[in-house]
Amino acid sequence: MSRHTNPTEIARETLKQLALRRITPTPEQYREIYNEIAGVDDSQAGPHPLVKALVQNLKKLPKMSPEVERHLGQIEQAAMAYEWQHIPPLVIKCVELQGGQAALTRTWAELIHELITQWERRSPHYNTKKKSETLGKVLLNFGNYPSLLNEKLDALLRGWAEGASDLVGIETVEQAASVDFASDLASSEMPDYAGSRLQPSGEAQPGMDWQPWREILVRTLQVGVADRLSHYPELKDEAVSLTEAVTAVTSEKGLDHVAVRLKKFWIKLELQTEREQRLTKGLVNLLMLLVDNLSDLVGQEAWVTGQIEVVRAMLGEQLSMRRLYDIETGFKDVLYKQGLLRHSLDEAQAKLKDMIALFIDRLGSMADSTGGYHDKVSGYAEKIQAASDIPALKQVLDELMQDTRHMQLDMKRSHDELVAVRQQAQTAEQRIHELESELRSISEKVREDQLTGALNRRGLDDAFSTELARASRNGTPLCLSLLDIDNFKKLNDRFGHQTGDEALIHLVRVVKETIRPTDLIARYGGEEFVILLPDTPLEEAESVMRRVQRDLTKRFFLHNNERILITFSAGVTIYYPGESQEDAIERADQGMYQAKKSGKNQVVSVPGQATSSAA
Ligand code: GH3
Ligand code: MG
Ligand code: MG
Repeated sequence: MSRHTNPTEIARETLKQLALRRITPTPEQYREIYNEIAGVDDSQAGPHPLVKALVQNLKKLPKMSPEVERHLGQIEQAAMAYEWQHIPPLVIKCVELQGGQAALTRTWAELIHELITQWERRSPHYNTKKKSETLGKVLLNFGNYPSLLNEKLDALLRGWAEGASDLVGIETVEQAASVDFASDLASSEMPDYAGSRLQPSGEAQPGMDWQPWREILVRTLQVGVADRLSHYPELKDEAVSLTEAVTAVTSEKGLDHVAVRLKKFWIKLELQTEREQRLTKGLVNLLMLLVDNLSDLVGQEAWVTGQIEVVRAMLGEQLSMRRLYDIETGFKDVLYKQGLLRHSLDEAQAKLKDMIALFIDRLGSMADSTGGYHDKVSGYAEKIQAASDIPALKQVLDELMQDTRHMQLDMKRSHDELVAVRQQAQTAEQRIHELESELRSISEKVREDQLTGALNRRGLDDAFSTELARASRNGTPLCLSLLDIDNFKKLNDRFGHQTGDEALIHLVRVVKETIRPTDLIARYGGEEFVILLPDTPLEEAESVMRRVQRDLTKRFFLHNNERILITFSAGVTIYYPGESQEDAIERADQGMYQAKKSGKNQVVSVPGQATSSAA
């Protein structure tokens, strides 16, 4: 390794080495590598040898966790700043985290009691799913550290309780995320030694703990910025280095310094974002132009327009990777099949062309020979005029008879040939029609989900408007159901994505075999399906869905001869004249959500409010 002397170079090389050796970039590890590259003897530069020995021995304790490591880092930091008074509580915390005699925040009995109470309480920020998610996270991360688990649970429950008291709020995704994050932070392990030491001047509240904000900034930089800059290594390096700088801030002056660097960095980032947006917009415009041009070019070729419509619709919508991927796979399939058919079509057309050429050729030669006969006939007419006796006339007649016989034979042969050619041309033309209609029907396939063969979103839209028109024409009820497979993520995690895909195919097969031929199934999202039930009252639609559910429990999905039970939760509703498709689906979705909340594997029917129309 070449010797670096410039601090920026050393810092850059340090980051490179951390990445290469896959070392977590904690301040302590960073310093170690930095010193190694700079060729500095760490025994002089690091914390007091006694503290070093202490930390090294603490590291040998059996249950190392990121929490413990962070505390060890803070011990070293305190030592370097000669703030000895902070060290004993940190050491005690480390030992506690190791599962020693920790003073529990609350007794377990109290906590469990509180958990049950909070679980049952309605909260605008925390529905049951969210509660279950956050609880799961805490159990997963801290399950092995009893005292920490106790503390985190306490913080979590306080978060839930605060959420519940705010009953006027309506939950949005952002709110839910921020509540989650705040309680996460409130529950994170943050000793106040740094907080009490560094107080922002001026209007800062006395005793305000600023460390959580530093943590937020570090996490924002790591997760929100650095991780998203993999296409711009320079910016990424800078984000990582800024993260390090923020982590290492211990004084107000240091904070100011970092703030200046941050400002400069945001400006660079803003420029980059603008460039990216311009690029994306440019690409979309270009694609639009291409698509418009394409449709002008292929105007009359009905089989291409199907796909052009799809691309145009896609460009008009919010782009998502999932949607792009779906369309791409659909297209590849269609393109391949069309390639094959296009080839046969070209062949058939070439054949027809050959035949027309032959036909014209024959026509030409027939005209030639009839022309010859015409000449001959007028020749005979002259001879007849000039004939002075019977024998001479007889000879002319004999010759004429002979020629007419030839002419007849010639005509017959030409006629037969013409009939044959016409027949061949007709066959070729028919084949072309067949091929063209086959192409059209393949292009229709873009309405199907490639994996399961159910309709896709576009197919659902089309089917919905057809059924809607039919229902209002005939005055018949139209029901729909939205189903979502239960615990599908688990199935994927346990058996792999491929098996997950097969399970989706299995589900669609069972549904198709259970519903009536006039009912339709469409894939609405990853593991969500919409079933349209024309001419069906709500109660019947509900019982159809229960029948599907029963059939699915009877017909196991097999994976490596292992029986896997697939269940789903579904909402059923009836379409109200005048409402939009989205409104009806939204109602079915509410039913599905209810079904999930009441324990999954259920069907919940939502009749919908006949609000204004009832009045
Ligand atoms: P819940 O019972 O609450 O519905 O839980 P869940 O796990 O089914 O729901 P969640 O929405 O958490 O997870 C859905 C999973 O479905 C996540 C995603 O990876 C998976 N998925 C989506 N599309 C596909 C697909 O095409 N194939 C496979 N194998 N998995 C998919
Ligand atoms: Mg889902
Ligand atoms: Mg699901």
